[in-house]
Amino acid sequence: MTKTQETELMEMAKRRGFIWPSFEIYGGAAGFYDFGPLGSAMKNNIIKKWRDIYVCGEGFLEIDSPTLTPHEVLKASGHVDHFTDAMVECKKCGSAFKATDLIKDKTGQDVEGLGKEKMQEVIKQDGIRCPDCAGEFGEVFDFNAMFKTAIGPGSKRVGYLRPETAQGIFIDFKRLFRHARGKLPMGVVQIGKGYRNEISPRQGMIRLREFTMAEAEVFFDPEDPKHPKFSDVAHDHLNLWLSKDQIAGNEKLTEVVAETAVDKKTICNEIMAYYLALTQRFLLGIGIPPAAIRFREQNPRQRAHYSSETWDAEILTERFGWVEVTGLAYRSDYDLVSHAKASGEDLSAFIEEKKKKVVCHVIEPSYGIDRPFYCVLEHSYTTDGKRKILKLKKDLAPVKVGVFPLLNKDGLPEKAIEVEKALKADCLAAEYDASGTVGRRYSRADEIGTPYCVTVDHQTLQDLTVTIRDRDSTKQVRVEVHELPCILKSLLRDEIPFEKAGKPI
Ligand SMILES: [Zn+2]
Repeated sequence: MTKTQETELMEMAKRRGFIWPSFEIYGGAAGFYDFGPLGSAMKNNIIKKWRDIYVCGEGFLEIDSPTLTPHEVLKASGHVDHFTDAMVECKKCGSAFKATDLIKDKTGQDVEGLGKEKMQEVIKQDGIRCPDCAGEFGEVFDFNAMFKTAIGPGSKRVGYLRPETAQGIFIDFKRLFRHARGKLPMGVVQIGKGYRNEISPRQGMIRLREFTMAEAEVFFDPEDPKHPKFSDVAHDHLNLWLSKDQIAGNEKLTEVVAETAVDKKTICNEIMAYYLALTQRFLLGIGIPPAAIRFREQNPRQRAHYSSETWDAEILTERFGWVEVTGLAYRSDYDLVSHAKASGEDLSAFIEEKKKKVVCHVIEPSYGIDRPFYCVLEHSYTTDGKRKILKLKKDLAPVKVGVFPLLNKDGLPEKAIEVEKALKADCLAAEYDASGTVGRRYSRADEIGTPYCVTVDHQTLQDLTVTIRDRDSTKQVRVEVHELPCILKSLLRDEIPFEKAGKPI
């Protein structure tokens, strides 16, 4: 993708209603994006695909808990004390910067996790000054990145917008374990908004202050970190960027099959490896090419306060380089122990068949939804001569079928509207379009990734047949109107090749 294509894509995304900056008529606010009508539909399709894997496929339990969370919960989880970013303020103009970003921009150095003193030293030694006014910086300090508020009138009961959906799952552990009839491993998911009060977000949809997350928590007996379905993924190839290679400063990836990675202890256990493979399958399923996916092993200094091993799934993008889209963290018993201690509740699990009591360990595959959404747009956008096409996977396309009358006369519009209604009644996301020429309508449909377009012409009035056009090949076939919903559904599910769908034209 070239720079022009990139600009074109973002311009299209705004113009056609995928995404646009929030609060636009009031000048906007950094770190927030609205999903327009097409964007919402596509985002829901991504979430559906995720839910199909985790809830339908893996049988995880899904819950939905509040985004506003009382202080006690996030104190126990460590977020009140550790969910912080190192920040500096300009003494002259008051502009605030995330210390790691500032140092990276000015010196190219990655100081993530090195501590405030080290950052202070770099700022001083390199004479880094305020990019806005050239003023001097004050001391580096910890800024808590949670949005704080009060629950109820007054300010007695402090609450925060949740920084992750996971805590809602941990504090419901007892009820969930009973619901799962005491079986381990037990998987629970939650999909919803999470919040991070970024100091100065600048990377469009990559750094958001409010975002959608899809998190899964896998609870298991630490003495038995086996996955019952591991053989399904044992031969999946994974591209790992090992911590030792990052430290040595090389970008070399280690390609390994899941089974070998576990045997050699490159990945801690079967459960972790299973979810790396599942994550890769999800990313491939939404249209990310294999070569644009890697798993980065976090260094101890990069890991969150609760984690002892973390892998980040990253997608290569043209605009932002490698982007982290999923974090797979070994949270051990950190959360359950912390909440048991703080609440006084016993959060251990009694395993009936083994007649023993354990505190479960947890592996967490945590997905952002907004970032993959952007990555999918970027990886799907192509040009073919003058044709601009969003080659979305069919199940992600916000509109599945465009319906056009060849001409705006002779009863063709009426017939086309009838066809559109019939498709909608059959739960197909169809959209009628009669403006401009048919050629223009095809272009508009290609641009938003609509896989199929149906055209009603004069022959339709005679023999009740219509044409279907395929987005990727632009080939056309003619089919009978009464068979249309059934044929389109088969095509959308890739059950028949396009050439076999009807009479070729
Ligand atoms: Zn300044």
